[in-house]
Amino acid sequence: MTPQEGPAATRHADLSVSPAQGAAPGAEDAEELRVEHGPGGGRRAVMDVDRARNWWEGFAREVEERSEELTELDRISGDGDFGTNLRSAVRKARARLEAGQPRTVGEVFTAVSLGFLDTGGTSGPLFGMFFREFAKACEGLPVVGSDVLARGALEGVRTVQRLGGAQVGDKTAVDAMAPAAEALQRAVDAGAEVTAAMGAAYRAAADGARSTTAMRARRGRASYVGEVARGVVDPGALAVAWFYERGATAA
Ligand code: ADP
Ligand code: MG
Repeated sequence: MTPQEGPAATRHADLSVSPAQGAAPGAEDAEELRVEHGPGGGRRAVMDVDRARNWWEGFAREVEERSEELTELDRISGDGDFGTNLRSAVRKARARLEAGQPRTVGEVFTAVSLGFLDTGGTSGPLFGMFFREFAKACEGLPVVGSDVLARGALEGVRTVQRLGGAQVGDKTAVDAMAPAAEALQRAVDAGAEVTAAMGAAYRAAADGARSTTAMRARRGRASYVGEVARGVVDPGALAVAWFYERGATAA
């Protein structure tokens, strides 16, 4: 961490989320959330297909590079296949992206969703349905704003909760998805465009993921091991934090 990176980078470090390319954007108050015209200019205000692909590629690379960390976390709290499952999902998603050459943000998310739905474990279908809601929210739009992404995030977590039954506090991916979606919507309500709104979502997801460390799992395989998983961050929640982090930094 360099001194200029400040508190956001400290949070990266203690969550073992790798340093983003460039400081995580966004700020706590509404005034700063409105500041949008940094390097990259107007493009930062919206998400187009190229930016969505960069977002997705950044996340996929992080998963590839750090799948063993995810597996190790799942080994302690579950059955040790989460890193493999997630890596397999991102490879399938990448193959679909390359084959389909999407022209819109919605088509990027559709390809990603299908890649996950094709993958095993609990996480494959749940994350697949999460991404599917982003695809639905973005459908037919050439570029999307933070409001559309917030709708995808909110519908995404709602769907995951309907299918998997987890509440906040159960030590699952929902502990990162739910606060991130709420933070995204709050940022939209405060007038934030994409980059700042995603920064707010990332910080909330990271805080949510960190909060799972102290929890005893009530859903998923980690619930079978009881106290053993206390003290360990939920790998699914960590992956959600990476996803939003990449959304905030993708240019
Ligand atoms: P499995 O438990 O089938 O081996 P994975 O290892 O692929 O599944 O995924 C484990 C991750 O899935 C957990 O870290 C957790 O975040 C997430 N998960 C498990 N059950 C649920 C649920 N009911 N709702 C949301 N996420 C869940
Ligand atoms: Mg597992």
